[in-house]
Amino acid sequence: MQKVVVVGAGTMGNGIAHTFAQFGYPVLLIDANESALEKGLKTIQANFERQVQKQQVTEEQRDAALQRISTATSIDERAADADLVVEAASENFDIKSSIFRKLDEVCQPSCILASNTSSISITRIAAVTKRADKVIGMHFMNPVPVMKLVEIINGYSTSKETSDLIFKTSESLSKIPVIVNDYPGFVANKILMPMINEAIITLSEGVAGVHEIDTVMKLGMAHPMGPLQLADFIGLDICLSILRVLQDGFGNPKYAPAPLLINMVTAGHLGAKSGVGFYDYSAGKKDLIVAAQFRR
Ligand code: NAD
Repeated sequence: MQKVVVVGAGTMGNGIAHTFAQFGYPVLLIDANESALEKGLKTIQANFERQVQKQQVTEEQRDAALQRISTATSIDERAADADLVVEAASENFDIKSSIFRKLDEVCQPSCILASNTSSISITRIAAVTKRADKVIGMHFMNPVPVMKLVEIINGYSTSKETSDLIFKTSESLSKIPVIVNDYPGFVANKILMPMINEAIITLSEGVAGVHEIDTVMKLGMAHPMGPLQLADFIGLDICLSILRVLQDGFGNPKYAPAPLLINMVTAGHLGAKSGVGFYDYSAGKKDLIVAAQFRR
């Protein structure tokens, strides 16, 4: 791998660009929205600052990494010589399919096209290109510079050569890659989302409150954060849409989203990003909400 393109400069895209640049890859970061690109670059700078303070990188390494990142607002000939593209645009099939069609047209035939999707079928994304053997899932975790896992998803047509190359590339980023097959939710969300959903059902049944459920899972199961706090962190709208993917994909009612989750998303209580979810973040810290609708 010589040159990497990252499409989408949001939460995940800027972290992915940061990580590739940190480990020596020249990166072209593309976002259709200019202000998202500026915000993404500021986040990268701030996160490198934090790494310098923690003595994880030197000032020279930070400066060299920042110089490796260039930006663009559209997919054009600047992406033509990329060896790898990692798409981290919004979680919407129509957006991703139009990006992959464009990448397939613009990028050299040997270029691998990876998606960071949390739940959309890699096989379905690959089908809009003429290089399905070179399309793969590269599912980084949030925050990307910190989290060690990369869930690599082989689509139905992904070649072994592509999969092996992405495995080695992930290792070159000091990550631990795991290869899985393309089924709804892959592994991470097929297991995580039913647990979060069950925590929400447990809350709405009145078995226990927010604090109690999160404390049982933190202290009893050694999870770094409870499932309700984690749901707030991921975004309740994202949790709902992934549960719908599992429910539709497997046709199994066990994945049906909790009515309380649907209500909260409908009410705009999306978790940390909206300022309120199972906890209140509006004062800039996490406060427990003891809301009437959380009690039976
Ligand atoms: P985000 O909303 O923070 O960022 C998405 C970015 O994509 C935005 O900046 C938007 O302007 C840009 N974009 C939209 N359409 C575009 C286009 N046509 N061309 C270029 N840029 C475009 O989203 P995110 O949380 O970073 O998620 C990105 C992807 O990563 C999604 O597929 C999501 O499912 C996946 N993911 C998210 C997380 C997470 O914790 N947030 C974790 C793992 C995977």
